[in-house]
Amino acid sequence: MSGQKPESVPDWTNTIVLFSTPLLAIIFVPYHWLVNGGFTIFEWSCFAFFMVATGTGITAGYHRLWSHKAYDANVLVRLWYAYWGACATQNSILKWSADHRRHHKYVDHLQKDPYSAKKGFWWAHMGWILERPFDDQVELDNVKDLEKDWVVIWQEKLYVPLVLFSNIVVPIALGFIYQQVTGSGSLFGVLVLAGLLRFVLNHHFTFFINSACHFFGNQPYSIKDTSRDNFFLALFTYGEGYHNYHHTFQADYRNGIRWYHFDPTKWITKALSYIGFTWNLKKIPECQIEKQKLINKMNIAKENLYTRLDVSENQTVSQKIEQRYKDFTATLNEWMEAENKFSRFCKDKRSALEKEPYMARLKSIRKTLEVQKEQLQKLFQAPDIDTLLAY
Ligand SMILES: [Zn+2]
Ligand SMILES: [Zn+2]
Repeated sequence: MSGQKPESVPDWTNTIVLFSTPLLAIIFVPYHWLVNGGFTIFEWSCFAFFMVATGTGITAGYHRLWSHKAYDANVLVRLWYAYWGACATQNSILKWSADHRRHHKYVDHLQKDPYSAKKGFWWAHMGWILERPFDDQVELDNVKDLEKDWVVIWQEKLYVPLVLFSNIVVPIALGFIYQQVTGSGSLFGVLVLAGLLRFVLNHHFTFFINSACHFFGNQPYSIKDTSRDNFFLALFTYGEGYHNYHHTFQADYRNGIRWYHFDPTKWITKALSYIGFTWNLKKIPECQIEKQKLINKMNIAKENLYTRLDVSENQTVSQKIEQRYKDFTATLNEWMEAENKFSRFCKDKRSALEKEPYMARLKSIRKTLEVQKEQLQKLFQAPDIDTLLAY
């Protein structure tokens, strides 16, 4: 027998909760339906409200506010997200954020990323929750900044009572009050729908961000990791489906950056900023996003070329590619700098005449960029090494 300690052991509490709740939902939702002749509009409304409240408690609160500090929020907003985040029962803010920050820092790493997609769909979805470290130490060294927020500490201390109160006591109380007031509905109707069914759905919708959003979709911003943009998944995840963008620009309070991208978390955060409840909403400048998209496009083309022609062995060829690529990214940087300078300049009202030299400079950089882009594209599409060297 080896004397080595195992790295992790099964987490029985999580295992029991995550397997028993779907089972209970499969039994009790139809059972309640049959016995009570369906659910009332009130019960369905509670279900919808709990779905959105717990879902955004995680996406707007746990994720964008605390884990990424993509904006600031007043105490009412923080308490609201802390409460509904606890109701979602995905761990406390502190532990959730610690895991999530590690996921971003070491994305895809087999040991250091807690839910590495490289360990397979099941692991990233929920396999990782069914185990815990052997010494039971959750490393919280990367969330020291969050300990300064008393709401985070309050939730950490009261996490288990909050979970039980929000998931069991409140739904039963709502059912009871409704029954007393209207004389219809059942005591457990809200508990079955807004408590149990919502609990299961909310879990798996969030889990899909770690699993499906690293497997299905496209990669317009970066191919450096497995993250993907997926509009369909954004529908279930309150906008978190634009995961490739999020992994590339994690500081941005938006995940879906276009106005038509389905990102309710972004809309709620923006709406709250109009009444002063949220502020300092961080946004990546448009030209930086465009630059990243171009670099990514070129990276994909470069990778295709390397595998297609196996030019990595040919030093002259790879040097040529690298040099052209370097020139292209240098022009991209120049373009971004000029754009930034120009927009800063335009902030104070300027006449068309004053703008003229800036516009001319931008135009000439863009022209160079177009030429370089075309040259690179041709080079990347070269059918063989001889043609490639001719470009
Ligand atoms: Zn994130
Ligand atoms: Zn991810």
